[in-house]
Amino acid sequence: MADLKNLIRTIPDYPKPGILFRDVTTLFGDAQGFKATLVRMAEPWRGEPIDAVAGIEARGFILGGALADRLGCGFVPIRKKGKLPWKTIGQEYTLEYGVDIIEIHEDAIRPGARILIVDDLIATGGTAEAAAKLVQRSGGAIVGAAFVVDLPDLGGRARLEGMGIRCEALMAFDGH
Ligand code: AMP
Repeated sequence: MADLKNLIRTIPDYPKPGILFRDVTTLFGDAQGFKATLVRMAEPWRGEPIDAVAGIEARGFILGGALADRLGCGFVPIRKKGKLPWKTIGQEYTLEYGVDIIEIHEDAIRPGARILIVDDLIATGGTAEAAAKLVQRSGGAIVGAAFVVDLPDLGGRARLEGMGIRCEALMAFDGH
């Protein structure tokens, strides 16, 4: 995975001191790198019946839309509070300082629909867990969660797996 890993730009101290921001825009901007990312992200889920990808705003939209096309399924957006035009279900989650809310359209997922959650990166898992709760509260069945990057030291993957959710990531970075 070294080739794809090298296309991710690391920005120290963004958005605040001590954080190593893993910037995937440099990976998305590379035609071969972006294609290879999508091919590899789709791979583990090929055998699974999936009705829709649920992508988390904003980088999860870029990956999720393209993955939905590859997997031959629909796409459902999970957005920051106040962005979706129709009636929504909201889920609060904890950030390092304070709380935030993500939302899904109340009718986006039909009962029993098989859903793959997609985002660029999993750190503490707070965002992905909130997305998983939205899918579950909508009556969907979570097939799994797919990421480009896992930061295992922050425990997000273990947290999701503890909820019984299968996780796949293309690469891991030490630290945070
Ligand atoms: P978390 O909820 O802690 O798992 O954080 C995951 C969300 O925050 C994802 O949407 C990521 O895009 C973003 N994020 C968290 N930490 C980083 C990081 N070190 N580099 C880039 N994005 C990050």
